[in-house]
Amino acid sequence: MTVQLNILPLNAWLPVTSLPFVIAGPCSAESEEQVMETALALARIPQVKVFRSGIWKPRTRPKSFEGIGDSGLKWLQRVKQETGLLTAVEVANPNHVAKAIENGIDILWIGARTVVNPFSVQEICDTLAGVDIPILVKNPLNPDINIWIGALERLNQAGINKLIAVHRGFSFFNRTPYRNSPMWEIPIELKRLIPDLPVIVDPSHICGDKERLLATSQKALDLVMQGLMIETHIHPEKALSDKEQQITPLQLKELLGNLVIRQESVTTGFENSLQELRSEIDKLDEELLDILARRMMVVEEIGKYKKINNITILQLKRWSQIIRERVQGGVYLGLSREFILKLLEAIHEESIQRQTEVMNRKE
Ligand code: PEP
Ligand code: MN
Repeated sequence: MTVQLNILPLNAWLPVTSLPFVIAGPCSAESEEQVMETALALARIPQVKVFRSGIWKPRTRPKSFEGIGDSGLKWLQRVKQETGLLTAVEVANPNHVAKAIENGIDILWIGARTVVNPFSVQEICDTLAGVDIPILVKNPLNPDINIWIGALERLNQAGINKLIAVHRGFSFFNRTPYRNSPMWEIPIELKRLIPDLPVIVDPSHICGDKERLLATSQKALDLVMQGLMIETHIHPEKALSDKEQQITPLQLKELLGNLVIRQESVTTGFENSLQELRSEIDKLDEELLDILARRMMVVEEIGKYKKINNITILQLKRWSQIIRERVQGGVYLGLSREFILKLLEAIHEESIQRQTEVMNRKE
């Protein structure tokens, strides 16, 4: 099943000749000098096509810097005139949308805290009726792909067909070493469900620091994401928001230079070896499924035995023994402990389900 959206290809509205394209700029516009100096330096990096900057900032706690407000919009007009970069700001309500459009902002983005609320997204959509402007849609704070898709659908229904999804990670209390856990399976599933939708990655908000930006950007490219949004500040140490994760334009240039650009498919002789390896994987997966199906048949036999002899499905001692022995065996074969545990858990869940069905069968 796929989701039907009417999406214009990226190169129909953005001057991109090669991927990845880059959106860069400060977390927040703070002063005219900071905005201009950052933008002029960024304009010298060929991959950078769009200058981003928060004007109205959704901060987690009050009394943090909440953005420079409307007055910053003029600075972005200057950026556009003097650098030729397209400009993008975050909008969270109809007033932001109106102000941004009035001031000639080229691209709007809806932040994670707004996407999470369908009322807010719908309000923004209502303001956009009849307006032709590109919109970037960040993932919602929580890992719910349907809220992300819902926001894209609402915008598309409002007539917006220049859409890009921005993966910025998901928020968890105390769960991961990242500021926002990447959970790559979610943007991958989004790409599978909406193949025409360009998806880019915001490694700054995923990492929350500068150290892992390169590795996370590389991962994004290896997962065929079309672009990167990276927070960049002329003096990151003085930034009024997201200080730890912002890098200088020079550091951005270096980072982009260190990325390895791989192709999604190859046309040389490598194609054959890749094909061979893939058929080997196909065969192995078939065997795996066959073995799992056979295991479940044995599980059903055990279920019948337990039913006749009136004993419980869960046999804790046996389960602990299985875990111990399989982890030991798997680690010996070079598999990770975490992987074996996850696999065993999934198999065990299905086994219990099968035995429960046997127990409940009236025969
Ligand atoms: C931002 O890009 O500065 C921002 C606030 O992002 P997010 O909505 O992803 O937190
Ligand atoms: Mn930020």
